[in-house]
Amino acid sequence: MLDALNRPLHDLRISVTDRCNFRCRYCMPREKFGANFEFVTREKLLSFEEIHRIARLTVPLGVKKLRITGGEPLLRAQLTSLIRQLSSLPVDLAMTTNGALLADRASELREAGLTRLTVSLDSVDPDVFAKVTDTQLELACVLDGIAAASAAGFKAIKLNCVVQKGINDAGILAICRRFRGTPHIVRFIEYMDVGNSNDWRRDQVVPAQQILEMIDAEFPLRPAPENYPGEVAQRYHYADGSGEIGVIASVTQPFCGSCSRARLTSEGSLVTCLFASGGHDLRAPLRSGASDEELSALISAHWTKRTDRYSELRRNTKAPRRLEMSYVGG
Ligand code: SAM
Ligand code: SF4
Ligand code: SF4
Repeated sequence: MLDALNRPLHDLRISVTDRCNFRCRYCMPREKFGANFEFVTREKLLSFEEIHRIARLTVPLGVKKLRITGGEPLLRAQLTSLIRQLSSLPVDLAMTTNGALLADRASELREAGLTRLTVSLDSVDPDVFAKVTDTQLELACVLDGIAAASAAGFKAIKLNCVVQKGINDAGILAICRRFRGTPHIVRFIEYMDVGNSNDWRRDQVVPAQQILEMIDAEFPLRPAPENYPGEVAQRYHYADGSGEIGVIASVTQPFCGSCSRARLTSEGSLVTCLFASGGHDLRAPLRSGASDEELSALISAHWTKRTDRYSELRRNTKAPRRLEMSYVGG
């Protein structure tokens, strides 16, 4: 199934909650996501059966990978039960988490059938970590979570580091040092203008090329081939064989041409671009008795009409009000 720009649907990112126990300044700044913020209400949240049904219907349409995300997915009650249900589908099943609650949950997630894990980690300096994430939860919880996940059998955990100039860029080499010699893969991500809350400025972005030069000067790098066509991360191996890193140049080298991701929000809206101003409601048809054929036709109709390529147009576009990252699911 191809969209209007000939892009297949391969990935479905499923946000299971828009709530989070962190308040990362670039995603959910506390002054905008405070006590009065209106999160998705319980009645509107898709049930696990509803999520499973949508996911199942996307498989014949081409989906090969599901990623559970949020908000913070580990805040969703009984998440392991959803993982167990989704693991019956013939797809790769991954999750992105901030890792703070991972230490006690890693083995049950693994046993339930989660195949791959990404943990967000913007700094290995406790003070910088606290400043970026604006939470009382400590860096040590996340590091313990990564260690527990590794012990539970998750191999090559991906560690996402969003780089912001003047905030955490001075710690890039410290992160490399911390994870060189482990199977884990740190991926440095250019800070993006998602949502309306983070007051993004282009001069806060550290271009991926600069990140690579900084690392290469200390730890020489060799480019590695793509794992699959259209992979968003550019991969590099340390020349001395001590592991792999990646960069995701969403701002300076956009990859809309090969974007094959759809997103399902926690309230059942199908979103076809991270920078969209809205989605397509699937909850109403789900709850008013639509058949599998009708739901599948709706999903196909939304995907085949898709023309999104925001990152390629960024310089020339005055973006309308956008959905928040914590709502769409990163
Ligand atoms: N809470 C989970 C976490 O942080 O891993 C999952 C959801 S979070 C929205 C998913 C990813 O989006 C995280 O790796 C986060 O760092 C990234 N992210 C959030 N806001 C971003 C921004 N403005 N630019 C780039 N990445 C961002
Ligand atoms: Fe929460 Fe993840 Fe957003 Fe940070 S990036 S506020 S951990 S959803
Ligand atoms: Fe895909 Fe939209 Fe990001 Fe482009 S801007 S890569 S279309 S999500």
